[in-house]
Amino acid sequence: MLARRRRVLVTGGAGFLGSHLCERLATDGNEVLCVDNFYTGSRDNLAGLLSNQKFEVIRHDITFPLYVEVDEIFNLACPASPIHYQHDPVQTTKTSVHGSINMLGLAKRIRAKILQASTSEVYGDPEVHPQDEAYWGRVNPIGPRSCYDEGKRCAETLFFDYRRQHKLSIKVARIFNTYGPRMRPYDGRVVSNFIVQALTNQPITIYGDGKQTRSFCYVDDLIDGLVRLMNTCDDVVGPMNLGNPAEITMLELASMIVNLTGSRSAIEFKPLPIDDPKQRQPNIRLAQDSLGWHPAFSLHDGLRKTIAYFESLMIARGAEAAI
Ligand code: NAD
Ligand code: UDP
Ligand code: UDP
Repeated sequence: MLARRRRVLVTGGAGFLGSHLCERLATDGNEVLCVDNFYTGSRDNLAGLLSNQKFEVIRHDITFPLYVEVDEIFNLACPASPIHYQHDPVQTTKTSVHGSINMLGLAKRIRAKILQASTSEVYGDPEVHPQDEAYWGRVNPIGPRSCYDEGKRCAETLFFDYRRQHKLSIKVARIFNTYGPRMRPYDGRVVSNFIVQALTNQPITIYGDGKQTRSFCYVDDLIDGLVRLMNTCDDVVGPMNLGNPAEITMLELASMIVNLTGSRSAIEFKPLPIDDPKQRQPNIRLAQDSLGWHPAFSLHDGLRKTIAYFESLMIARGAEAAI
């Protein structure tokens, strides 16, 4: 029997996660509408979809109203790397707050199901470890990361208020650090930084003492979690952690990437950015129980795929000068 084809809107669909999500949704037989202002996304990310009759892309900033007709909305629009979200912090907050209000208003008018891409950053620099969804977090409201963290926290508030006030069908995913092909080489995130540095034999830049931890999820696993969450019944709302609980220090990550690439890079220590969380690891029991979801890719396998992607990018663009 054929599954029912849906019309699905993906905001931020030209970005790293959004483009993988658009591909997955199209492969599943849905009509996909990608909306993006191309701040950090690109048409290159959508190259595999542009000739697909069931795929459409609109250049639009979600801080402005949007009138379309769809069945489901994945709200991913928001720059995610510190360099980009701190470049224009007011626009970052507007994207999470005004953008969410517009997408929720749209969902309310057309009675569409709507999922918010929230983040582990809502936990801030946590005193609870690993973090479960009941933890309220420890976030600085006035620091350089606040535009992102507090914007995402306010977006969660808006989602839950639209559910209470307007009976919307909502889903909130708290996404932990995710990596994979189509991360931008110079967006400052640790996995892309270390891989590019290792492949070009540049020093690996460790911020602080490198003992801070993160837990990295491969992109295909994360996208599968988002799709499963959207497909749950109305009672499953979240917030729900999605991430890989395998925790690692930045020093260990650096040495793993140096080994996998056979690099000659040395380690270079640099100052730790302000408010950089010391540790982060998801408790994913809720996602396991309600979605039957668990990440399938080990860090080792995911990094190999990601390194292969950056190698092909370097070959395509002509060695390190152009990457
Ligand atoms: P990304 O920067 O690659 O993608 C974000 C996309 O949103 C880009 O295509 C950008 O052009 C677009 N965008 C930004 N502002 C917009 C606006 N006002 N209107 C329309 N489009 C806009 O980042 P990503 O890693 O793909 O993250 C996608 C989402 O997932 C974000 O909401 C992010 O907060 C969330 N998230 C990502 C991670 C991660 O590790 N990648 C972790 C937690 C949460
Ligand atoms: N909105 C939108 N598309 C729609 C419907 C609404 O972008 O199809 C925007 C609209 O501009 C409004 C926001 O969503 O500012 C919130 O809509 P809602 O109906 O909740 O609030 P109101 O219009 O009453 O302020
Ligand atoms: N980091 C690092 N070297 C880099 C880039 C980042 O040591 O070249 C550190 C950063 O300080 C943080 C961790 O790696 O402790 C993860 O950083 P990222 O920006 O990827 O994610 P986030 O801090 O948002 O979780």
